[in-house]
Amino acid sequence: MKKDILSLNLQELTNEITALGQPKFRAKQIYRWLHKSFVTEFSQMSDLSLSLRELLNDNFVIFDCTIEKKLISEYDSTVKYLFKLHDGEFIESVLMKYKYGYTVCVSSQVGCRMGCTFCASTLSGVVRNLNPSEILSQIYTISRDNDIRVSHIVMMGMGEPFDNYDNVLKFLQLVTDENGVNISMRHISLSTCGIVPKIYSLMEENLQLTLSVSLHAPTDELRSSMMPVNKKYPINELIDACREYTLKTSRRISFEYSLVKNVNDTDECAYALAKLLKGMLCHINLIPVNEVTETGCKKSSPERVKRFSDILTSKGFTVTVRRELGSDINAACGQLRRSVQNK
Ligand code: SAH
Repeated sequence: MKKDILSLNLQELTNEITALGQPKFRAKQIYRWLHKSFVTEFSQMSDLSLSLRELLNDNFVIFDCTIEKKLISEYDSTVKYLFKLHDGEFIESVLMKYKYGYTVCVSSQVGCRMGCTFCASTLSGVVRNLNPSEILSQIYTISRDNDIRVSHIVMMGMGEPFDNYDNVLKFLQLVTDENGVNISMRHISLSTCGIVPKIYSLMEENLQLTLSVSLHAPTDELRSSMMPVNKKYPINELIDACREYTLKTSRRISFEYSLVKNVNDTDECAYALAKLLKGMLCHINLIPVNEVTETGCKKSSPERVKRFSDILTSKGFTVTVRRELGSDINAACGQLRRSVQNK
């Protein structure tokens, strides 16, 4: 079987290339073609001999995602991609333009098995994990397609990154490698629904990325009703892990809180949330829930969002309300893939 060359780091690639009887420096050349020029065919590596290109083609494959569908928001030029993978599965990515640069939201799995009640990605379960190469190639394809340099990454697309931990860590290593696309670890956010043991594992890695934790509710009863993962890792264990994470890494945690009308958007919830997070090095990101037909969740009114935010601010928290980008193009994760699945 051909090897997945885009998932190899420079050291691993060097080992492979020398094992094929090639000089070491070729590995760096090939690595640059893959991770700086984003080529998708060995034939495009124009400074390698024809025989070497053939040798590579016989031994390796460059996993790539092809653009199946592309939707451009008329409001804010957010671009949503539906990608087809080599085995015919679909994943989604989003390109967002901010003042400080281009951000890509990547998927880490085909589908998701976490079962959050408001989320479209999990409606038909998980199909498989993505390889490091398949997470990378979302960014590479978008860079090529728009002729841009992507500066920021959020791992907030389809899938639970901590349910595909090893591949995600390898992806982080590759995407921050100075020999490759060289995105700063400080410009990467990783979002988890709260798989507690992996928060401790990541803590040991001591990375400069931003950990986002999808909290969405301040009590076990409410959180378990929205997020099944809470039955396994209840709030006190999650918050303990988060507090320890901030102390160990000195990095602020970003708590995601999607506001669902009449479910988790009451004053009582806001006060309980403030109490829960008291004293922690953190930031709260409020997201008016993106309405998905199948889930029946309704978004809170702007007045409710404002009131919820004001309560938290009055308690001393830094709070942002996420701009709703691309609301005209199904930018909520999982909605585009479902629309082709349902056909
Ligand atoms: N599995 C990871 C990352 C994927 S989703 C996680 O759970 O964090 C990224 C964020 O979007 C999470 O906070 C998730 O809870 C939230 N989300 C999912 N569906 C949503 C929807 N319909 N509206 C608003 N936020 C949603």
